[in-house]
Amino acid sequence: MLNSLRSIVLEVNAARDMKTALAIIVTRVKQVMATQVCSVYLRDAKGDYVLMATDGLNADAVGKVRLAAGEGLVGRVVVREEPINLEHAEAHPSYQYFPETGEERYSAFLGVPIIHHRKVLGVLVVQQVEQRRFDEGEEAFLVTMSAQLAGVIAHAEATGGVVPVGAKATQAKFIGVSGASGIAIGEAVVIAPSADLRSVPYQVCKDVEAEIAFFHRSLMAVRDDIKSLGEQLKARINREEQALFDAYLAMLDDASLGGEVTDRIRKGANASYAWSEVILEHENIFNSMNDPYLRERATDLRDLGRRVLAYLQESNQKTRVYPDKTILIGEELTASMLGEIPKEKLAGLVSVLGSSNSHVAILARAMDIPTVMGAVDLPFTQIDGRPIIVDGYKGTVYCDPSAQLRKQYKAIFLEEQALVKGLEALKDLPCETKDRYRLPLHVNTGLMADVVRSLERGAEGVGLYRTEVPFLLRDRFPSEEEQRAIYREQLEAFAPHSVTMRTLDIGGDKALPYFPIEEDNPFLGWRGIRVTLDHPEIFLAQIRAMIKASEGLDNLRILLPMITNMQEVDASKALIQRVHKELLEEGYRVRKPQIGVMIEVPAAVYLAPELSRRVDFLSVGSNDLTQYLLAVDRNNAQVADLYQAFHPAVLRALQYIVYAAHDAGISVSICGELAGDPGAAILLMAMGYDVLSMNATNLPKVKSVIRGITFERAKQLLAEVMRMSNGDLIRDHIARELRETGLTRLIRPVASDANE
Ligand code: PEP
Ligand code: MG
Repeated sequence: MLNSLRSIVLEVNAARDMKTALAIIVTRVKQVMATQVCSVYLRDAKGDYVLMATDGLNADAVGKVRLAAGEGLVGRVVVREEPINLEHAEAHPSYQYFPETGEERYSAFLGVPIIHHRKVLGVLVVQQVEQRRFDEGEEAFLVTMSAQLAGVIAHAEATGGVVPVGAKATQAKFIGVSGASGIAIGEAVVIAPSADLRSVPYQVCKDVEAEIAFFHRSLMAVRDDIKSLGEQLKARINREEQALFDAYLAMLDDASLGGEVTDRIRKGANASYAWSEVILEHENIFNSMNDPYLRERATDLRDLGRRVLAYLQESNQKTRVYPDKTILIGEELTASMLGEIPKEKLAGLVSVLGSSNSHVAILARAMDIPTVMGAVDLPFTQIDGRPIIVDGYKGTVYCDPSAQLRKQYKAIFLEEQALVKGLEALKDLPCETKDRYRLPLHVNTGLMADVVRSLERGAEGVGLYRTEVPFLLRDRFPSEEEQRAIYREQLEAFAPHSVTMRTLDIGGDKALPYFPIEEDNPFLGWRGIRVTLDHPEIFLAQIRAMIKASEGLDNLRILLPMITNMQEVDASKALIQRVHKELLEEGYRVRKPQIGVMIEVPAAVYLAPELSRRVDFLSVGSNDLTQYLLAVDRNNAQVADLYQAFHPAVLRALQYIVYAAHDAGISVSICGELAGDPGAAILLMAMGYDVLSMNATNLPKVKSVIRGITFERAKQLLAEVMRMSNGDLIRDHIARELRETGLTRLIRPVASDANE
């Protein structure tokens, strides 16, 4: 049973569209359960459950039979949200007869709900003539099948939301996480790593005959390559291996493979897409075979597929023209892909894989390009050339947006631009409340580009320099001297203001390509200070580079990430002291930097009083602290709703940290995303945070909101929300306050759409 289950899910997963996926489900489930009928009903836009596929009932009934929730047996399964298993379906009071299905013959009925994220997407039904109750094992099998298929169906449904080119488009929404804030409205350009069969975008073929000729030329080219490869290796390989080359050539000669591709080109697809589709389908067939020899042929086929695709794509690449507002979309965007598009044409980015810590997101933030990461359901191969809206605030992407949504987003976009312009005037004004409470605003940096923007926006120092960024953009560890030069640039640019440099914080979702860390649970694994204390050679070189770079400037502060116990602090301090002493002995005139720890795990919150007596300052990493307090992966779009920045537990922890630091007489700052949220900034100020550190984009907004309120009112507001126990209500309460103070425009803009 387990094998059948796996192979059905695999097959369904590989299906390129909803119709094929459903057809596979009904045929295979019917076959494995040896029943006479298997059908799938799915919820439509109106909320009715419609027969979408069947193996056993009359095919004509598909699309015609529909039931509301509660109606008929299928509707009963929906409202009960559990299986209904009947020996005698027609005797049940809810039984409803649809003559077009021809189901009167079938007595036994088992219906199981398909539930995804608490919503009943549909019902999976099996039926039999024989009057019998499906046994416990069969029921358990169908429940397991349905639970596994729910995710696949939800994905296929999302994919199905995007209609083929030429057909009337309907708006589809996809959820990811924010990579860089801002709104972008433009046209999708799908970029694929070369010769990757699974990520070839669908593009319309304009000249069918030319495309077919082009396809045949590419086949010929690969045939020649393989022939000469075979010739070259003749002396070195045995007969069996030589046969592989013959098999390859035979595959290319196979009229049916070529024929299938040309058929699809004639139906409108370009050669690359048609070829990849045919190869993937054949690969699936080979993969599902039980014979290991035949399964092995799938590998050959894939290899061949890639070779031909490389030829097809190479020629296409040269002719690509980028639209003025390009929204670059890819399965996994890389920093180098950004370079392929002229800068003035790049409006937004969407990556199906990756997180807000991926290189591309880091670059996007430095370049101010609205970006959504981790949009896992996005059918990226199907949307080349489509109109797209990227909402980098909420982490959502809209494909084929309605005219109304476009209008709303256009208005937000223009408002944002006007707001940014208006806020430029604040650059040289102090960040202080109406009753003259001063709150220094610092910036988070990683690249030199951040530095320039930060200075333009009036930052008073660097609250977090993420040193992993220059490490991420290289292909080996930077040398001590290379690091010194990079750090010097940062320190010089901000002197005499302080620059807080965090020691290398890798692990979790921040992997260096040249130092891979493979773990089952990376966020609870080898991260931050744990890695560098285990590798003192890396830590020492970095500290030496930092302290050397600060010579004559004396504005360096060192920050330790992911601290969970006192031993880590003591060990790090000892190493820093050692480096400082050695540098003095070597003749450098350097001051001992202030040392601080990040509070980003619950253990550090509870240790804050003790930690505060050991270090010079604390800095709260609210991004990690929130994810660890709430046990919600900050990069997982599936649980994005549970990542509540205003969760009362988070606010209570944040307040506790301030008390602990101030009791010990040290300063405390916050450098997570929360500090850059205008509503949260008011609360953090009222809690007593000495510095807020954020990305340069948010700095003017936060300054504006602080200048628009009194410290007294901020404290009252904090007292009000600290009595509340629901994060959503806290957010609403703050939004209301901003509205009443006339600061609504500073809240994250929100467009409403019919799907929400
Ligand atoms: C944080 O966790 O809040 C933080 C600032 O660190 P990073 O986002 O780099 O993990
Ligand atoms: Mg962190």
